Amino acid sequence: MPSKNIPKNISQLILENHPLAPLTTWRIGGAAARLAAPADLADVWGLMRLAYDRGWPLFFLGRGSNVLIDDAGLPGLTLHLAKSLQGLERHGDNLRAGAGVSLPRLAQAAARLGFSGFEFLAGIPGTVGAAVRLNAGAEGQSLAGVLKRVWVATPQLQLLELTPPELGLGNRTSLLLNFPHWLVVEAEFNLAHPADPEVVKARMAALIAQRKTRQPANPKSCGSVFKNPAGAPAAGWLIEAAGFKGHRLGDAVVSRKHANFILNAGHATAAQIKALMTEIQEKVWQTQGVALEREVVLLPEDLA
Ligand SMILES: Cc1cc2nc3c(=O)[nH]c(=O)nc-3n(C[C@H](O)[C@H](O)[C@H](O)COP(=O)(O)OP(=O)(O)OC[C@H]3O[C@@H](n4cnc5c(N)ncnc54)[C@H](O)[C@@H]3O)c2cc1C
Repeated sequence: MPSKNIPKNISQLILENHPLAPLTTWRIGGAAARLAAPADLADVWGLMRLAYDRGWPLFFLGRGSNVLIDDAGLPGLTLHLAKSLQGLERHGDNLRAGAGVSLPRLAQAAARLGFSGFEFLAGIPGTVGAAVRLNAGAEGQSLAGVLKRVWVATPQLQLLELTPPELGLGNRTSLLLNFPHWLVVEAEFNLAHPADPEVVKARMAALIAQRKTRQPANPKSCGSVFKNPAGAPAAGWLIEAAGFKGHRLGDAVVSRKHANFILNAGHATAAQIKALMTEIQEKVWQTQGVALEREVVLLPEDLA
């Protein structure tokens, strides 16, 4: 279990008024009032305690591939985890990963160790911590299929150990959506399916190549904006049927290749993306009777 020491001089880690757009795949959003990249778990505790004591709202940012940050930026303190908590180690039949480990790195590590089951993660550009929160998935598989347990830090400085049933992992959902200030710090995965590393690597490469044929070439997106609704056609199909392919609002453009992707075709603002999302939700509901639910997180709104 991760340890819980609190370092002194923690406020030295904090950068003020730091631009956030470059830390997101959409390249959109204002600045963080305060940004800190914890080097380790001790820093996490220190920063959480500082935010708690000072009454600062607390935000987390991994690789920024599933967030839309408001044009006005974020108040309080944002913990940037893309380069933090990078531990990745085998423990017998398990693989333990820090929350900041990228999903492609996790998939490659499992392949190198000679285990299959993680290939679907190779093309998802996020971190382990955020992936647990939303039960990230692809190719009909999700994190729930390989996850054994996670450790979560709470703003009250508790360290909780949770299993998949306790996390309530479902279709792009988990208990953590109800507790957005709980930080996943570490996750443990089952290494259950031994396989030839070269075969696993070839399968990963094939999945990544397949993805490239389906997804837009412009990397400035957040992946799928809306969840695929249960018992209805895929969100991309519904948005295309509502006539949105290529639809543009300023520099926010619905991809012609995959209508569930909204691209930043230049200098799109968060306001333009939000207005386009609302327009899509309204029209899909009016024309097809389906209420699309956002997959992407709006910050700070969704944490207010
Ligand atoms: C091109 C592209 C393709 C994509 N394809 C897929 C796909 O196939 N399947 C899929 O599921 N997703 C996909 N995504 C979405 C995204 O990559 C995943 O949701 C990913 O898990 C987000 O990770 P992140 O580190 O970028 O999270 P961020 O965008 O940085 O954060 C997302 C949310 O998680 C919270 N968070 C971040 N770290 C933690 C933590 N340690 N503990 C608790 N909460 C945390 C943040 O507060 C925020 O609310 C795609 C995105 C892009 C851009």
